Amino acid sequence: MRIGSPRIECRNGRARLIAEIRIGEGDVRPLWFEVEEKYGQYLCAERSDAFLIGLLNFAQREWLDIVCEAPVSAQLLYQIRTYLIPSLARNSKAMHETRIEAPMDDAPMANAGGVGTGISCGVDSLHVVKNYAHSPYPGLSLTHLCLNNVGAYIEGKGQYTWQAEHARQFAKEMGIELIVSNSNMAAAFQQNHLLTHTYSSCFAIYALQKLWKVYFYASAGYDLQEAFSLRDNERHSSDHYELLSLDCFSTRTLQIYSEGMAITRFEKERELADWPPAQKYLHVCTMDTGPNCGHCSKCLRTLTALDALGCLQRFDNVFDVLAYQARRARNLGWLYGQHIGADGDAMTEPVYDALKDEIPLGQKLHAIAREGYIRLAKIEWLRRRVHPILERLRGRKRL
Ligand SMILES: [Zn+2]
Repeated sequence: MRIGSPRIECRNGRARLIAEIRIGEGDVRPLWFEVEEKYGQYLCAERSDAFLIGLLNFAQREWLDIVCEAPVSAQLLYQIRTYLIPSLARNSKAMHETRIEAPMDDAPMANAGGVGTGISCGVDSLHVVKNYAHSPYPGLSLTHLCLNNVGAYIEGKGQYTWQAEHARQFAKEMGIELIVSNSNMAAAFQQNHLLTHTYSSCFAIYALQKLWKVYFYASAGYDLQEAFSLRDNERHSSDHYELLSLDCFSTRTLQIYSEGMAITRFEKERELADWPPAQKYLHVCTMDTGPNCGHCSKCLRTLTALDALGCLQRFDNVFDVLAYQARRARNLGWLYGQHIGADGDAMTEPVYDALKDEIPLGQKLHAIAREGYIRLAKIEWLRRRVHPILERLRGRKRL
């Protein structure tokens, strides 16, 4: 893989950082990152840093080596080559120990001293804003919020449009400048966003390298002791080894922190429970319907957590609390299903511990039966015989 020298193009009020990526003969893909023109001064075209980071995991998965035409920051190159790539390659048979050929530049990259974080208005990002809108530590108060479209959103779809407007209102109320960026990263290099989001997000951070001094990348909220892992890393979310990767992606001029990494999602929710901006703006839903749907797994995970904390009513601006209460027994059954499920959500465990005595027996039995069916359905010959019978019974019931 050859990463061409980045350049900046300005048109229609937008500034675009772009580099040609060549993967073998005849496969040339322009990769770009775009912001409003007034932020164009912060785009970094002098170095390959953003593109190297953004494509690193892709290269390791595809067994590619990398050649950068423009220099890479020397400290960054040292850390990626020496610590990150070997650690990932040695703990996975599927990951290549990618070699990087690049000129180096050891001069500190000047920046405007910005302190940023991404804003989805989910639990993790609101936790960052609560703690760093006005930090007691000098130089750690947020100057900008970012909505980076590098794989989590589909541009033009209702969810992204709604999310951008929601973030705008939140940023305005908090009095913090919002940068809305766009990129073709997800279209040009199709990757599983869950497995690679640290890389695509750091691509966005390094694209604006001349702005940032500090960037808070919100941690996922797993218990650190249980979550940190490099084993078979190609199959797990990149947030499982962010303590390593974000350290390798930090330099003496740009520090990226895994904010909240010392606590769990449930503890973050506890911290947010009394914070009025969270009560007004919390948005966790992944459905393409705008406001929280109240039914998807992320909504249920958050609703049951707020239930366990005894603060549901405080969030009736962002959730239909009455609808949750009306289905509370079934919702607790869902929580039990997560607890016993082979693919259950580990983040719900502390919530389950808090609510386990309130889960009705009938809901437990229903969840056990459902989990049993899911496990049996994984046995192919059994699924082929039993599934049509169940479908016929369901059809009769409907009639
Ligand atoms: Zn939802």
